[in-house]
Amino acid sequence: MIQLSFHGAAGMVTGSKYLLRTNDASLLIDSGMFQGPGRIRQFNWDPLPFDAGTVSAVALTHTHIDHIGSLPRLVKEGFSGPAYCTVPTADLASISLLDAAHLQEEDAEYRNRKKLTHHEVALPLFTSDDAEQAINQMNPTPFDSWVSVGDHLKFRFHRAGHILGAAGVEVAVSESGRDVTIMFSGDVGRYGNPLVVDPESPPPCDYLVCESTYGGRLHGDEDPKAVLTELINDAIARKSVLLIPAFAVSRTQQITYLINGLIREKRIPPIDVHIDSPMAISVTDVYCKHHAYHEIDIKQIGGAGCILEGKNVYLHRKRKSSKLLNKLKGPAIIMSASGMLTGGRILHHLINRLPDPSTTVALAGYMAEGTLGRRLADGETEVRIHKQVIPVKAKVVSMHGLSGHADYLELMRWLEPLKDAPRKVFVTHGELSQSEAMAQRLITEKKWPCHIPEMHEVAEL
Ligand SMILES: [Zn+2]
Repeated sequence: MIQLSFHGAAGMVTGSKYLLRTNDASLLIDSGMFQGPGRIRQFNWDPLPFDAGTVSAVALTHTHIDHIGSLPRLVKEGFSGPAYCTVPTADLASISLLDAAHLQEEDAEYRNRKKLTHHEVALPLFTSDDAEQAINQMNPTPFDSWVSVGDHLKFRFHRAGHILGAAGVEVAVSESGRDVTIMFSGDVGRYGNPLVVDPESPPPCDYLVCESTYGGRLHGDEDPKAVLTELINDAIARKSVLLIPAFAVSRTQQITYLINGLIREKRIPPIDVHIDSPMAISVTDVYCKHHAYHEIDIKQIGGAGCILEGKNVYLHRKRKSSKLLNKLKGPAIIMSASGMLTGGRILHHLINRLPDPSTTVALAGYMAEGTLGRRLADGETEVRIHKQVIPVKAKVVSMHGLSGHADYLELMRWLEPLKDAPRKVFVTHGELSQSEAMAQRLITEKKWPCHIPEMHEVAEL
């Protein structure tokens, strides 16, 4: 028996969770949290569709919460085996899982205090203790090395780009006289981004589980360096503050790297960059530790010290030094999390600076529906933050071209070396319209049989 079931990222982007069962082993590929609108987040509270105690091992593709955020719950409900992942993923996950647990605990506490819960008591999805337990079960594993799970199943990680340490998973099952290979794409990254490695093309496989986040979209040709050059030169000319909300994992490091590059290339004069996110600072340390997992030319940037820091970069860990930034005069850049403005220190900067017409707020990338980021991107003239009505007098711009996801042309490039058609491609990890566009493209251009699984669908391989 080889059975594959889809318990998340089926007809949607988040909650990645695929269970592969054989006669004597069961491997869970990713254990992600559902994120986004309430109807999707609600899946986080459904009973687990399988017995956590029967899972032999977990293989985690990368550290984004929609791929690892449900590991603490799995552990709490009885999973006691190893959760394999790459070395940087283990380091990043120990930061992001604890951060997610704190946010859950704070949110539950706030809801109970304000009596905002429909239940008797609001509960966090998982606690810091649950996160610690999950982190203890993580088992860092190098790329390309086969890991056996029982006698008839093995897997290995392939480089996916996307974010530091991200992987695709190749699983080989050999039982009852059959040899079957299944490739799970993970989240496929883009080409030529020095903060990660290029995605490695998939090996020949019988079945392919392929993501489709941008299955029907292209990123366009906006050059983020050109956009930053214009924004920063404008901030310098007007002696103003450029406020950049950025994700703590990956986006903050990417933008800091681009700014330092622009200074080195003399496209902009040196400007102070204030990174106001303890989590982003911890994540930056992980980048500095794992030079083998990205392609930044250390010689070119002067070698010593952390590759993502510079003379002009100031790191703010303490709350007190974050508050002091309220008095900061331009020209300067403040970068803070969260990226979509759903929480974190960026909120106090927005309360302070949105009413100021000299400030520019540069939104970095896609803003999901229902977030404060989306309301600003949509041009709202006043917004509510912490129950205060804040007038939006600052200039708000959206930067594109910073995405860590392959668009459909890059996904096709990734698939190009795969000459033999898989027996079936399961198209997952996309809003339905994106998965349908990707499947249609694979059917038309490659004549590959495709299927978009539904939530909890079980496929016999
Ligand atoms: Zn991801």
